[in-house]
Amino acid sequence: MAKAVDVAFPKLRCLRCGSESFYLIASRIFEAAQRPSLGAFNGDAVDLVCQRCGMIERHLWKILRDAAKPIDTD
Ligand SMILES: [Zn+2]
Repeated sequence: MAKAVDVAFPKLRCLRCGSESFYLIASRIFEAAQRPSLGAFNGDAVDLVCQRCGMIERHLWKILRDAAKPIDTD
């Protein structure tokens, strides 16, 4: 997962404070959608936690894994 994040976001910076240091947490999430009009998705999540300010940036692993890389952020 960490390698996929590096390839996807070569210039990874915290969206809040600009730090370049992160913890990576993988966790399992489950569908919570109660309305049929909302898409539902089960799977693993990748959380990037800023080591300076604690902001958490979450990605669904299957989508991040399969996305064309690098992912342009401009
Ligand atoms: Zn930060």
